[in-house]
Amino acid sequence: MTRQDRASILLIYTGGTIGMKEDPIEQTLKPFDFSQILAEVPELGKFAHRIDSYTFTPLIDSSDVEPKLWVSIAELIERKYNEYDGFVILHGTDTMAYSASVLSFMIEELTKPIIFTGSQLPIGSPRTDGKENLISSIEIAAAKDEAGHAVVPEVCIFFDNMLMRGNRTTKINSDNFRAFRSENYPLLAEAGINIRYNSSAILSPTDWNAPPVFHKNLDTRVSILKIHPGITPQVASGILCGEDSRAVIIETYGAGNAPSKEWFLSLIKKASGTGKILLNVTQCLAGSVNMDIYATGKCLKNAGVCSGYDCTTEGALAKLYYLMGWSKDNALVKEMLERSGRKCGLIGTNGNMIGDLFIETERTTPDSFELFRLFGEMSDEAHLHSEHFFHQEKEGMPLHQ
Ligand code: ASP
Repeated sequence: MTRQDRASILLIYTGGTIGMKEDPIEQTLKPFDFSQILAEVPELGKFAHRIDSYTFTPLIDSSDVEPKLWVSIAELIERKYNEYDGFVILHGTDTMAYSASVLSFMIEELTKPIIFTGSQLPIGSPRTDGKENLISSIEIAAAKDEAGHAVVPEVCIFFDNMLMRGNRTTKINSDNFRAFRSENYPLLAEAGINIRYNSSAILSPTDWNAPPVFHKNLDTRVSILKIHPGITPQVASGILCGEDSRAVIIETYGAGNAPSKEWFLSLIKKASGTGKILLNVTQCLAGSVNMDIYATGKCLKNAGVCSGYDCTTEGALAKLYYLMGWSKDNALVKEMLERSGRKCGLIGTNGNMIGDLFIETERTTPDSFELFRLFGEMSDEAHLHSEHFFHQEKEGMPLHQ
């Protein structure tokens, strides 16, 4: 049962195909300003909800997304959290799964929906999928149950009638409207004539009245090694033993298998021996890593490789960015990875939710806050970016009061 009382929604526009237009000179698609979107979707004015919008500048193709954008989005939501019932983020599809995954780890004890959406065709084109995606996302962000709580208090992706948990989602098609899949977790809702919510799959916060905790410290020193037949010691060594990374995600075959050749295993042992965090995720779209099935997987496990279980690469990357920002101690990060088990989220200590699991760690205290401060260089950039936001905020455009 959902209530659709007048809700207030903040629509955050970052760029992507949904708002693009063809540049007549270069004949390529480029992001366009938000007023174009509004003009194309007069239906937005028919909602009883109050919908305000914020536009990032510059608008970007999401291939240009960088972690400082995630920090800026989190800061904006943090500042506006009490003013709105839900947030809809218009974002390019190319990196939407990465952004949704990371945001899910950055906000702990979420009580409101944060829905990422976009489109495969610009909103101005006659067969656009953007209108449906946008309108349904707003409806989902506004939905409340009988108790007045958000129906979906999660970071999600809505695309082609499917609502998916953000950190379980992968872009699987570059030209079909069904661009995303969540193979290892059920849909949270499906939109038909009505929106049908899969309530047993949707998480709730442990305390609806507790303010969420925003974790804005991300350490992005992660590399990804995709195993493939013919991989050479030089290539594998450059990635596994490179000095600039604290962690390497190893995309393995099937249930977590990699070559059993001696040179490969000694590189794994060498990297692991230096304390590097090695995380095994499968190249398969569905299913899980299980390093106990095959001898090749067992060798990785014995060499200190952690299991990413059924995480997507995007989810694994987000989890590492968050955990490594939380602690500088690689051994502790590895312990947290092991303890998080089969879920993409994290295990902590008292029931708070990070990612998609109730975690057991102490709620962030002033003492532990120390752990979440931004790194030097990133801190400055993030600050500049957020100042820019204050400027944008003044230009925030109420669509419907
Ligand atoms: N390149 C575009 C982007 O990710 C693709 C899209 O939005 O569908 O911004």
